[in-house]
Amino acid sequence: MSVVHAIFEKLQIEYVEHKDGEELRFRCINPKHSDSSPSADINTLTGYWLCRSCGFKGNLERLIKVVSGEDVDLSQYVSLDEEFRFKVQNIYKQSLKGISRYDDIIQFDDTMGNELKNFKPAMECEEAVKYLTGVKRKLTEETITSHKLHYSSEGDYKNRVIIPYFKNGKLIGFNSRFIYDGNKKFRYMYFLSHSQFEDYVYNLENVVDNDYCVIVEGPFDLMILRQLGYKNVISTLSTRVSEKHLQHILQFNKIIFCFDDDKESKAGQKAVIKAANLILEISPNKQLYYCKLPEGKDPTEASEDELKEAFNKLIRIKKKQND
Ligand SMILES: [Zn+2]
Repeated sequence: MSVVHAIFEKLQIEYVEHKDGEELRFRCINPKHSDSSPSADINTLTGYWLCRSCGFKGNLERLIKVVSGEDVDLSQYVSLDEEFRFKVQNIYKQSLKGISRYDDIIQFDDTMGNELKNFKPAMECEEAVKYLTGVKRKLTEETITSHKLHYSSEGDYKNRVIIPYFKNGKLIGFNSRFIYDGNKKFRYMYFLSHSQFEDYVYNLENVVDNDYCVIVEGPFDLMILRQLGYKNVISTLSTRVSEKHLQHILQFNKIIFCFDDDKESKAGQKAVIKAANLILEISPNKQLYYCKLPEGKDPTEASEDELKEAFNKLIRIKKKQND
């Protein structure tokens, strides 16, 4: 049962499950809409909901506020552990079935040790080399080696490229990408030590100075930009930039956001505005820029020329903007 299920039970909202329980359909909670047949859907992974009839929508916190009339935090309704799982799901926009995470460091090391036996350097595996150097990823041998990419031909991460996360030289987890088509729900699977991961910024160890940094969404975006010669490319491994990440990000004189240009959801642009506002609150004169990619593309999909053009036309982000 998801956090959303638990909250619907506690608030006594009737629902019908759709898409194997991934969505719940319920009567619209807009006081101005008397909804005789259920017109609203909520996604149980993200907590976002929408009434298809009147357009009333929001996140899980808003739903609780509208229904209970109280300003509440989720922890009043669910256990800390459930709340944490929900937030992690929300970051990765996928089911937690694809995410193994450990707070207990001994258990983490133990399980990680077992998995590591199945991993080989990617350059030594034909399938992995084919996937990583092929038209989709376009990575060079140098990139594959310098990011210590591995491949697993056995175990829970079978047929996956492993992207290890290092922090101060210690392995604190990894992401894995299934190399074949299909299996869409779990294209990516993560293995994380949560306490180590909270403030983690990918690729900090390869930063050469504090002149500027480029912040991207994912590790493959990052690798492509490094190959084009951008020296300080980092990633929070989602579009989320938290206060805990800022201690690492604020060291740079210029900060350039290069998030996906998602035409439909505008998720990338919204995330940039949110992160920029957070940074400008703490450091009002920080030079922030937005690198606008061709519509609908992420850095791995854009051509070299398109990327260079976007970096030549950086857009300065100055004061607060409302989305
Ligand atoms: Zn409605």
